[in-house]
Amino acid sequence: MKTALIISPHADDAAAFCGATLAKLSAQGWHLILVRVTDDQKDSIGFSVEETIQINAQEMHAAAKILGIQEIIELGFVTDSLTDVLLGTLRERFVYLFRKHKPYAVFTFDPFGLYEGNQDHTRVALAVEEAFWVSCFDKHYPEHFTEGLEPFSVCERWYFARQLPEINHYEDVTETMDKKIMALCAHREMMKNTINQTRLQLKTHGKRMAMLDEAMNGDMSPLLGMVMQKMAGQWQRRRIGRKAGLQRHSASHGLARWKN
Ligand SMILES: [Zn+2]
Repeated sequence: MKTALIISPHADDAAAFCGATLAKLSAQGWHLILVRVTDDQKDSIGFSVEETIQINAQEMHAAAKILGIQEIIELGFVTDSLTDVLLGTLRERFVYLFRKHKPYAVFTFDPFGLYEGNQDHTRVALAVEEAFWVSCFDKHYPEHFTEGLEPFSVCERWYFARQLPEINHYEDVTETMDKKIMALCAHREMMKNTINQTRLQLKTHGKRMAMLDEAMNGDMSPLLGMVMQKMAGQWQRRRIGRKAGLQRHSASHGLARWKN
């Protein structure tokens, strides 16, 4: 059985960026461990910080269950503030987790991803990329060895991004797209905040979309399903070529997958 660490800066990144792939791997027998780096204390509308932490954590557990994630590790950094945390501090935490859980693969944002405006995503990606080789050294963080841990190397890095500089792996996720959409709907408060950002942008533009209002107040699956299926359909077209014909609802997930 292979183990994967999914290093997710925020609670919803795992579902949003690789949820269907995770559900597929879980069904194949992989042991999936979600590492949530921040506490998402700012990500809600109208709730206090304490309520937000509680709601987002509850919804993350529900989403993880849908995707077949068996374990969750909370690192508890303040959300949207990782730019103020030393990169070495994050790197040490990831090296420790590699040595402790000995994952075959690690999933996170691509450190070379394009058009990334979220510094939590960028910082985590850079720290994971460095932790990947630093964890092999016996003179980096020798205090880990007093716990019985040893130098360790992850075999594969599976990277996702808003836009990847290079896609070298496509995963057919036609069978598990529904689980990804269900998991995203389980992150209701964070998705509401995401949808609301688009609403506010439209408001500035003097416009309004009924579909966004309906998703905010009721069932989110029509909106999230449409957006996610469209993205997965675009990857599928790139994968099989436009002339090959596209089965309705067939879906792929494009990734940068580096095997060492
Ligand atoms: Zn995020």
